[in-house]
Amino acid sequence: MVGVLALQGNFASHIQILNEIGLDSTLVKNLEDLSNLQGLILPGGESTTMSNLLLRDQSFIDGIKFFSDNKPIFGTCAGLILMSKNSFDKKVLNMNILDVEVNRNAYGRQVHSFDDSINLQCKSVKSQSIKASFIRAPKITSIGKDVEIICKHNNEIVGVKEGMHMAVTCHPELQNETLLHKLCFKG
Ligand code: GLN
Repeated sequence: MVGVLALQGNFASHIQILNEIGLDSTLVKNLEDLSNLQGLILPGGESTTMSNLLLRDQSFIDGIKFFSDNKPIFGTCAGLILMSKNSFDKKVLNMNILDVEVNRNAYGRQVHSFDDSINLQCKSVKSQSIKASFIRAPKITSIGKDVEIICKHNNEIVGVKEGMHMAVTCHPELQNETLLHKLCFKG
């Protein structure tokens, strides 16, 4: 069973992808919902709103951090921002699950959103291109020494992996791409 954080944002399309790859899924809204999960997805949305909602319950935040010690977490866009070490914005909760720094809204406003191919170059699968939507996406500005680069777009890092955790700045799930979900939760 894979959980999808469902406080705000686009969690439904992740549920659909998990369904497509044959994994049971459930919505996660509080600490109790984290029990018995094999993995967790932090979806896209608005990281400031998700931060505000998470900050209402410190035990939920601690639970997610504890969860990340043992089980994989996959973040897309705002999910990556929450997982990062720093996004240089006091309004955002950075859970430091990934040793990366990000700049929010680095491509401009909503009207500058776009779909494009990204290049997947993960150690465990052959290089290939997959489709993704960039919606007020962040940019990854620095990565720690243990962070593997798994996706690039125009030579910029748009996907990372550190240990069992993965995150991308964009939304493959909105383009019906299942590969990253498979990699994260099916190995
Ligand atoms: N711009 C949003 C933020 O900073 C992220 C957008 C997204 O998740 N698609 O939280």
